[in-house]
Amino acid sequence: MTSPGAARLKELDREHHLHPFTDFKALGEEGSRIIVDAEGVYIQDADGHRILDGMAGLWCVNLGYGRQELVDAASEQLTQLPYYNNFFKTTHPPAVELAETLCRLAPAHMNRVFFTGSGSEANDTVLRMVRRYWALKGQPEKQWIIGRENGYHGSTVAGMSLGGMAPMHEQGGPCVPGITHIRQPYWFGEGRDQTPEAFGRACAEALEARIQELGSDKVAAFIAEPVQGAGGAIIPPDSYWPAIKEVLERHQILLVVDEVICGFGRLGEWFGSVHYDLKPDLMPIAKGLSSGYLPIGGVLVGDRVAETLIDEGGEFYHGFTYSGHPVCAAVALKNLELMQAEGVVERVRDDLGPYLATRWKSLESHPLIGEARSLGLIGALEIVADKDSGKRFDKSLAVGNLCRDICFETGLVMRSVGDTMVISPPLVISHDEIDELVRLAREALDETLRRLT
Ligand code: PLP
Repeated sequence: MTSPGAARLKELDREHHLHPFTDFKALGEEGSRIIVDAEGVYIQDADGHRILDGMAGLWCVNLGYGRQELVDAASEQLTQLPYYNNFFKTTHPPAVELAETLCRLAPAHMNRVFFTGSGSEANDTVLRMVRRYWALKGQPEKQWIIGRENGYHGSTVAGMSLGGMAPMHEQGGPCVPGITHIRQPYWFGEGRDQTPEAFGRACAEALEARIQELGSDKVAAFIAEPVQGAGGAIIPPDSYWPAIKEVLERHQILLVVDEVICGFGRLGEWFGSVHYDLKPDLMPIAKGLSSGYLPIGGVLVGDRVAETLIDEGGEFYHGFTYSGHPVCAAVALKNLELMQAEGVVERVRDDLGPYLATRWKSLESHPLIGEARSLGLIGALEIVADKDSGKRFDKSLAVGNLCRDICFETGLVMRSVGDTMVISPPLVISHDEIDELVRLAREALDETLRRLT
């Protein structure tokens, strides 16, 4: 039952609050679900429902909810030094210690980090660094950045321009110039007339073709997520990344690997780049860096870019009031300390990832499911009208959103991206909780099917 307090909050929310990525009018009619409490992998709403958070918030609560150590780290830092900045030749212990820890966990050639307040700001920073790097190298005409259709790199103007989300490009005026997008390695959605391996190579050929079109002396960088998250947990075929790497190396184009979702254990390594054996020049990070407890992001910078910016760049006219905020940095540092001490990343790789993979795959037997895929603790289900042909339901039925809403009723947060259902649970989920997640997902699919027929 909705308490009077919750009813009032819903009313105020409807009257005053514009939510991100939301149809304001439709939400006004439906009203919001108000989340008031959380523990472990569960959240609780104001109506008293306990819900298994299969999305770790927004792919970020890697250590799960209710970690007192993170609360204590924030509280101690708030008391000690609640704010100071990293501008004008100053810094503070949490920023320095976090920088050192991150560079120790990152691939060996990445020894510098620039802090930001979010993943979007990290990608704005990437854009500035990439173009500055080539200007300093005496090749200022190397300006083009190639991203991917349906990639997601944030909501600032630079972030949305680097991303390839068509509906975002259609709103708010022109994108940042000098950014173009190639096809995504989405085998189930776009490549089933070929083997996954041939399709992966074809996607890399699309990169080669775009570079030829633009002129390799004009292309600065390629940006991509190791596994596309917001696009629908798209796991590329095994042939994809080696072929992409080969193209970039041959043309001397920088590689930017957006680790905002895949970083900090999601794929069973500290970074997705390690899983795919990539050697990125820049890695934007955020989300799992602090398990989402406080907002913080950054860009890990590889030696070749860092050395040029340091040795030849002079002042870099870029930075944010909250770059390396001491309280956020202290929480991130504690978060990384706990993840190391508890072996969270190794457990995802050796135990939880393989366990989820077998349990998740069992959902492929469901009449609505064309494919169930996962890697580490990220996974997707493709809802189809016909299992053999992979034909989708009519868009007007919005089956993915229907299933998502049913999931909530069933007690599970699963996100819909079109008719692709996505999970990305906290990395501390247990086997029993994975069983429960899969059982709830099946129940929600059964109910979705029932309402469709
Ligand atoms: N990059 C990726 C891969 C993301 O998934 C996101 C957010 O979902 C961002 C960047 C933007 O991060 P933020 O929302 O912290 O600005």
